[in-house]
Amino acid sequence: MAPRKVTYSSCTALCDVTSLVLSPRCRHASAPRSPPLTGLHGQSSIRHMETLTGHCLCGSCRFTLTGPHNFVGHCHCESCRRATSSPVTTWIGQENGRWTLTGDALVHRESSPGNMRGFCGTCGSPMYFKADRYPNEVHFYAALLDDPDAVTPTDEYHRDERLAWMHMTEP
Ligand SMILES: [Zn+2]
Ligand SMILES: [Zn+2]
Repeated sequence: MAPRKVTYSSCTALCDVTSLVLSPRCRHASAPRSPPLTGLHGQSSIRHMETLTGHCLCGSCRFTLTGPHNFVGHCHCESCRRATSSPVTTWIGQENGRWTLTGDALVHRESSPGNMRGFCGTCGSPMYFKADRYPNEVHFYAALLDDPDAVTPTDEYHRDERLAWMHMTEP
């Protein structure tokens, strides 16, 4: 399927916005236009109407994300680092009503007051993050997607905590 030229330029997840070539997987051409959402740092969000799926290491816990994400970005903070045992954690902010969980129920732990983390009770994979300060959305791990390349991070958080040996392309 040959890509089509479009004038819709907000999609950085799938479409080549420089050449305005619409990815065959993008559904923006038929998506209704709505006011842009804002991410954690107030930047324009990715407009993305695909349905994405993901799962934990053992496959007991699964999630589906539908429609646009509020943000996709890398976090370098120490809390994320310890929670995932990884130098950087890439988050997808997903509005409530646009995500579902299937499979086994998650195990929850309040990692600090007002911050809840959900895990697979079988394999221990972190599955999501909820916080009282973000009452309308849940944060999922981009690395758990069946196709992690289906999203493109556009934000970066807590760069002041980035590890010296963590070299990466800045979004
Ligand atoms: Zn699991
Ligand atoms: Zn963090």
